[in-house]
Amino acid sequence: MRLVMLGAPGSGKGTQAERLSKKYNIPQISTGDIFRALKRGEQLPGMTLSKETIDEISSIMNSGNLVSDDITIKVIENRIAMSDCQNGFILDGFPRNIPQGEALDRLLEKHNIKLDAVLELDVPDEAIVERLSGRRYCKACGKTYNLESNMPTEEDRANCPEHCENLILRDDDKPEVVKQRLATYHDVTEHLKPYYKNQDKLITVIGRKNLENTIKDVDEALAKL
Ligand code: AMP
Repeated sequence: MRLVMLGAPGSGKGTQAERLSKKYNIPQISTGDIFRALKRGEQLPGMTLSKETIDEISSIMNSGNLVSDDITIKVIENRIAMSDCQNGFILDGFPRNIPQGEALDRLLEKHNIKLDAVLELDVPDEAIVERLSGRRYCKACGKTYNLESNMPTEEDRANCPEHCENLILRDDDKPEVVKQRLATYHDVTEHLKPYYKNQDKLITVIGRKNLENTIKDVDEALAKL
C-alpha cells in the first residue's frame, strides 16, 4: 500500500497514518515529525543537515509557513529509498504543494512504483482550531497526545517515562500560528486536491468528531481499492 494523507493540520491525518502504518505494517513518513526530530538534535540516517539549515527549518515551522521544497524533497527522497519502504509507505504531510507533488511523481516513476490513493481528511476550520488547542507534544520522544481524547497509556509511559510529565503545546500549535498554517493549507496545499483528482487518486473522508466513525469510514474507503 502506498498512500498519501492529505488534510489540514489537526485534521487527524497523523492519527490515521499511525494506525494504518500498524495495520499494513508499512512505515508512516511524516515530514513534520522528521523536522521536529531534527530540532531535537537527531540526524537522519544517510543525510546530515547543518546547524544553520536546522535553525532555518525551526524558524519557518514556528511561523506556520512551509519549509523549502529543496530541503523537504531531499528528505523524502532519502527516506523513500530506505529498505523499509519496499513494501509501501504512508506519506503524512508530504506533498504540501504542487511542486512537491510533481517531485513525488518523478520519484515514484524513478522507483517504478505507483500511489494507491490520496486520502483526504476533510474537517472544518472551527473544529481544527478547537482540536489543536488541546493537542500536546512530548519534547522527549515526539509523540502527540490530546488533553481531551488521547492521553498517554501505561505502555506509552513505559516507553518514554519522561513524556507524561512534559507534555507541551507545540510552538506551531499556538493560536496565531495555527491561523497561518490553516491559511497555508487553503492557499497552497489544497491545490493538490484537483491535482490528484485528475490522476483519479483522490478519496475524501469526512473527519468526524467521533474517532471510531472516522476509522470506519477510512477503512471502508481503503477496502474498495
Ligand atoms: P505537520 O506536523 O505535518 O503539521 O508539520 C509541521 C510543520 O513542518 C509545518 O507547518 C511546516 O512548517 C513543516 N512541514 C511539514 N511537512 C512539510 C512539507 N511537506 N513541506 C514543507 N514544510 C513542511
